Amino acid sequence: MVNRRRFLTLSSLAGLFPSFSFRSPQSPVDKAAITHPSTNALPASIGPLVISTWKQPKANAAAQAVLDKGGRALEAVEAGVRVPEADPNDMSVGYGGRPDRDGHVTLDACIMDEKGNAGSVTFLEHIMHPISVARAVMEKTPHVMLSGEGALNFALSQGFKKENLLTPKAEKEWREWLKTAKYKPIANIERHDTIGMLAIDGQGNISGACTTSGLAYKMRGRVGDSPIIGAGLFVDNEIGGACATGLGELVMRTCGSFLVVELMRQGRTPQQACEEAALRIVKKQDYKDIQVGFIAVNRQGEYGAYSIQPGFNYTVSQQKKTQVTDAKSYLK
Ligand code: ASP
Repeated sequence: MVNRRRFLTLSSLAGLFPSFSFRSPQSPVDKAAITHPSTNALPASIGPLVISTWKQPKANAAAQAVLDKGGRALEAVEAGVRVPEADPNDMSVGYGGRPDRDGHVTLDACIMDEKGNAGSVTFLEHIMHPISVARAVMEKTPHVMLSGEGALNFALSQGFKKENLLTPKAEKEWREWLKTAKYKPIANIERHDTIGMLAIDGQGNISGACTTSGLAYKMRGRVGDSPIIGAGLFVDNEIGGACATGLGELVMRTCGSFLVVELMRQGRTPQQACEEAALRIVKKQDYKDIQVGFIAVNRQGEYGAYSIQPGFNYTVSQQKKTQVTDAKSYLK
């Protein structure tokens, strides 16, 4: 119920100041910093579109295959991100992901559909496809997020198989790291393949998914932005969707993906929204040695991407074409 007193206060303000608007005006954009307004609008019909963080042509192809058959964006993003989850050579996601500093692979993932339904798992071990567990949380429980042992037990109850996700390659690197055990997140050294994916299906509906093994050699129990709705991923079918990658702590402190979608709601293009969200981090956090990247798409099929450091790229698939593009960045 609308708070009557507040309503009256606002109404009288509007009476006193006829130009007073209840809609918040757009905050001024730092035009000097917004150097690359999106020119990526789709020409005629939007058609199916897939965009993911980093170089992910195989994941995009799997998502596109679903969309080509008339499938839902939700199905597409799940199928898409399952590809790097199962790939032992993708060392920031699922099977083959680098472990925490105690040698355990712990996974975070979330998914969001066009109706605003969301599911998430954090600190999940032994399950190759956390994204599918996140989807099961969304569809089969009254909750949004399950964590750790509870998430694992739920996964097992749903028929997911318990597996060892630490590959010999990841274990060897970890043992090498243990010799110095220095932990300092450095931009891009991890050859990230944490995947955030957004898709628009033939009905014009948007869904998104995000999945990761998190930062290499993180503290045990650490959860990043990727499984947090509004941080690593946010979708509002009326507006668009956004995903983040990079140092999750900075994304969480600024509700990064939610911020990008809200900026689009206020009229920014996806490109402007990604840039402004990254600038918010730059303004308030110590960003010098760290990377954060955003991707976004709006209902019109325009998309954008931006990162703090150079080196972030993203993959777009539409009309049978897939392209990997270097994102513009704040630092050159
Ligand atoms: N955002 C992820 C995290 O902080 C890592 C990544 O994007 O690679 O866990």
